[in-house]
Amino acid sequence: MTLALTGQPVARGIAIARCHLAEHNELDIVEYRIGPDEVDNELRRFRSAIVAAREQLEDLAARVTENVGAAAGEVIHTHVVMLGDSRLRDSTENHIRGELCNAEWALQIQLERVLAEFRSIDDDYIRSRGEDITQVVRLVQNKLNEEVADKPFENMPDRLAETLVIAAELTPAELAILHERGVAGIVTEHGGPTSHAGILANSLGIPAVMGVRRAQSLLQEGETLVLDGGLGVVYADPDEAIRSHYQQVQSDTRRFKNSLEAIRELPAVSLDGQLVSLQANAERAAELQLARDEGASGIGLYRTEFLYLQGAPPDEESQLAEFAGAIDLLGGLPLTIRTLDMGADKPGATFDVTQLRRAANPALGLRAIRLCLRDTDLFKAQLRAILRASALGPVRCLIPMLTSVHEIRMVHMLLDEAREELADRGIDFDPAMQVGGMIEVPAAAMSIADLGHYLDFISVGTNDLLQYTLAADRVDEQVAHLYDFQHPGVVRLLRFIFREAEALRIPATVCGEVAGDRRYTRLLLALGLKEFSMHPGRLLEVKQVVRETDIPQAKAALSHWLNTPAGPAAPPLLHLIDESQHGN
Ligand code: PEP
Ligand code: MG
Repeated sequence: MTLALTGQPVARGIAIARCHLAEHNELDIVEYRIGPDEVDNELRRFRSAIVAAREQLEDLAARVTENVGAAAGEVIHTHVVMLGDSRLRDSTENHIRGELCNAEWALQIQLERVLAEFRSIDDDYIRSRGEDITQVVRLVQNKLNEEVADKPFENMPDRLAETLVIAAELTPAELAILHERGVAGIVTEHGGPTSHAGILANSLGIPAVMGVRRAQSLLQEGETLVLDGGLGVVYADPDEAIRSHYQQVQSDTRRFKNSLEAIRELPAVSLDGQLVSLQANAERAAELQLARDEGASGIGLYRTEFLYLQGAPPDEESQLAEFAGAIDLLGGLPLTIRTLDMGADKPGATFDVTQLRRAANPALGLRAIRLCLRDTDLFKAQLRAILRASALGPVRCLIPMLTSVHEIRMVHMLLDEAREELADRGIDFDPAMQVGGMIEVPAAAMSIADLGHYLDFISVGTNDLLQYTLAADRVDEQVAHLYDFQHPGVVRLLRFIFREAEALRIPATVCGEVAGDRRYTRLLLALGLKEFSMHPGRLLEVKQVVRETDIPQAKAALSHWLNTPAGPAAPPLLHLIDESQHGN
């Protein structure tokens, strides 16, 4: 009988293959004492284990970079960077010296300390970084115990083309090895979409479901499984109906992928000849590389919150180094750097998160530009870093969560001060660097004519704009059904924004999730949008819809819908717009 197990959908794709249970012998970490005269030897043992772990990961990262691409190699490289983190190393060495204990145990104690800190922050992203640190520490502990350590995949076949691997958890390095062996898909009991193994599964295109409880004990070696990575479901011993449904999905997907490849080198031009700019939302090197590979015309949204997630806020120099790296990777494509957007759904260690959380309505509280205007020293350090980056390549600066003209005037005043400070230090910047504002608050949407005096461009953050327009929290599943892009109020508001921007000749982009959702591409075009910014993995899909759209016809369908009284009999908007394209 068919058994269906559910977990977190991590990487889209269907796999129909044979089940293989990966074996892992967890290393037993025990504590033992060492004498004062053995400390130097223990430190040496610890350092060479780190070197050996680093060599293993670097070797694998190089192989993956060469065979798969820089984006995938970069994910493994994040573990190399963690290995180099001096805090973990120094505190372990101090523990060995102070407590006179073995390196494995000292490392274990430090790991537990870090995890305890992370546990106090209730955030998926931070939790996933905790899993990463655990995996890096395990690797070093294994290197310290080479003879008894778990040799990953010792009993695993060399070729895994028709095989789905079921593991308790996987490190990015292990996943890369499975990929090299051609694995058809993976299921893990731990991990999720924000774990590095999850991110890597996505960029390697391995269908994956994670967080499937007791998968290793419920599934059986050798049985046939069907995995749906998009839905987060694994079927064991599937019946004929399930099997043939998924075989059909697989062949449709193959056809779809081939059709995307066919337009890779073609421009994003609609049937009526309108050229559309397709940009990417990206921050990590992996995403920047993917954006280039997929033909993005620039980075429309470079979020900077990731720089502020650990301890002290990053200084001007370290931010500049990060931006310079991004500019380098982009090879001349424009980079739109968004200033810090912390608070509400984006917590961070830089500010007292618990205090921010204590606000009755964090999404309506001190977040994003409001927070930055409270701590102008911190904000100006970021503005100086962005200005300095503008001397290195085409850089634009984007301000999140604007509500009033007063805020953007304050930003310009601080930018002037930052320019003066740099000029005094004799440091270069682009004096004409463009400054844009995110339209995420309905009051800002209704004030584009006023804000526009101070903005070179606008970027509509539909993720937030919808939450504030519909009074539906973007991260609250209980009101997810109200978070509706097709609500006539939202559609009218967006039409107003794009019309205002056009009349004022201010370029407008949409950088919320909807920009990368091909179901909404025609609606956005009908609303007058000419610039989209999205996850780089969606660029080809959206380009395909652009190339298959007659915009005047889509506009006519939209006008018809807006003039039809809303009600149960009203035709669904997306359907109406798609219908308008028939005959093309
Ligand atoms: C948005 O709100 O649409 C947006 C792009 O910003 P973020 O998702 O980072 O809040
Ligand atoms: Mg936003």
